[in-house]
Amino acid sequence: MPTIIDGRKTSEQIKSEIAAQVSEIKAKGGKIPHLAAVLVGNDGASQTYVGAKVKACEQVGFESTLVRLEETVTEGELLKVVQDINQNPAIDGLIVQLPLPNHISVEKVTNKIKPEKDVDGFTPANVGRMTLGWPAYVAATPYGIVELLKRYAIETAGKHCVVIGRSHIVGSPMSILMARNEYPGNCTVTLTHSRTKNLPEIAQSADILIVALGKPGFVTADMVKEGAVVIDVGIHRVEDVSKKSGFRLIGDVKFEEVATKASAITPVPGGVGPMTIASLLHNTLLAAEGKIYSK
Ligand code: NAP
Repeated sequence: MPTIIDGRKTSEQIKSEIAAQVSEIKAKGGKIPHLAAVLVGNDGASQTYVGAKVKACEQVGFESTLVRLEETVTEGELLKVVQDINQNPAIDGLIVQLPLPNHISVEKVTNKIKPEKDVDGFTPANVGRMTLGWPAYVAATPYGIVELLKRYAIETAGKHCVVIGRSHIVGSPMSILMARNEYPGNCTVTLTHSRTKNLPEIAQSADILIVALGKPGFVTADMVKEGAVVIDVGIHRVEDVSKKSGFRLIGDVKFEEVATKASAITPVPGGVGPMTIASLLHNTLLAAEGKIYSK
């Protein structure tokens, strides 16, 4: 049986470590970390995500502010809200929940966020700093994966890491992090995408396979090397009448069959997903401490 990399347990552990740090800050009369989340419109999934982030802040003792704006808010009005939060010294971290309505430019809004408060790690400043190996806010999903590899003491130096998917929020930063000259890292990295030829052969040569392409059950056992570490980022709802909810969650990897070959694997649900909020809390704590941009 492979090691099951348990993101749920690990994220709870990280949250309790952060809560302990907040108690220490309180005891010393220091500044309590404060996260502001901006939510535009009434999209159900976005409301759930933002709600979970605000709740997690409460759990660890952070302060939080939720700014809700109508779907019809103009780009200019949203930019003004971001600017006000940028200038508010009480707020350490700022996230703008995506997606935004079509009439608003995600690039413009992202670029408006002060890098020092960009706890989602989406601004060009933070992506650039991460790429240079400088202190940076790393985006939640890649940071969560790095943390899982660390906490499960997965060896990475000299390994071949294959990343499937090159999105700005997962695959591309993951490839940079796995290639950097520190632990976890020092891998030889192959970044693959929809134009890659011979993907099954390339995947088969991976010691560490990070799968983030958004296609349910894409990776099958024959694409995986015996003993590989498999990280599944995909999340998909599929109909399941046996469940009360009527659906269940599956990943980009066919878990049951790939688990028979892997040495370690993340399940879906309960793998990478739960780490996202823990990463955001981690970044917000860093923001309150003001350490990232002191260098
Ligand atoms: P995305 O922006 O849609 O990017 C998908 C990437 O996969 C693209 O680079 C695409 O290549 C590549 N791709 C598509 N089909 C392919 C194929 N047949 N062979 C090889 N590469 C292929 O996706 P994303 O935002 O990175 O998300 C990926 C998955 O992770 C989704 O299921 C999403 O829901 C999930 N996700 C989970 C979390 C979490 O917290 N667990 C966080 C973020 C995302 P091209 O660039 O050539 O188009």
